[in-house]
Amino acid sequence: MKKGLLIVLSGPSGVGKGTVRQYFMQNEELNLVYSTSMTTRQPRAGEVEGIDYFFTDKAHFEQAIENGELLEWAEFVGNYYGTPLKEVERLREAGKNVILEIEVQGCTQVKEKCPDAVTIFMIPPSMEELENRIRGRRSEPEEIIQQRLAKAQREMKMVKDYKYVVCNDDPQLAADVIALIIKRNM
Ligand code: 5GP
Repeated sequence: MKKGLLIVLSGPSGVGKGTVRQYFMQNEELNLVYSTSMTTRQPRAGEVEGIDYFFTDKAHFEQAIENGELLEWAEFVGNYYGTPLKEVERLREAGKNVILEIEVQGCTQVKEKCPDAVTIFMIPPSMEELENRIRGRRSEPEEIIQQRLAKAQREMKMVKDYKYVVCNDDPQLAADVIALIIKRNM
C-alpha cells in the first residue's frame, strides 16, 4: 500500500485554517485524516478534548518532548503545541493522507524530517481583516490579542518557505484550491 501524504497547513492565527479545513475534510476523495495536536493552552468555549486538541499540562508536554513522542512542537504565545508522532505514522502507513494544522516553527521541523511533506500557507486578504477575525473570537484578553497580532506579522514573512500559498478570502474557494493541491500530490 502506498504511504499516505503528510500535509502541513500553516498561516497566522485567525486566518481561518480551521474553518477552511472543515470544508475540504468533507471531500472523501482526499482520503484525509486530521492530526489532533497536544497543547498546554486552556480549551476555548466549545472545544472538545481529543477532537480539537489533547489538552495537557506543561509537565506532561515536556515529558512527551523528552520521550521523543512528538513529530514537531513549538511554543506559541506562552503555550506549547505539538504533533503526536505515533498516530501520524500509523495513519500514513495505513494509506491515509494526514493533515497537520500547525504554526511556522513546527513546519520547519516537519520539513527537516519529511522533505516530501506538502506544505501550504494560508494568508488573509489583508492584515486589517486578520485583526478583525482575531478580535471577533472575543475569547482572549487584549494582551494576548496583541501578541497574536505581532506573531502574525512575523509569521507572514515565512510564506516563502512553503510550497503553496492560498488566500482565504472566501473559505469555500480556499478549500477547493487546497483540495486541488492535495489531489495533484496524490
Ligand atoms: P490556537 O491557540 O489558535 O488554537 O493555535 C495557535 C497556533 O498554534 C495556530 O497557528 C495553530 O495552527 C498552531 N498549532 C496548533 N497545533 C499545533 C501543533 O501541534 N504544532 C505547532 N507547531 N503548532 C500548532
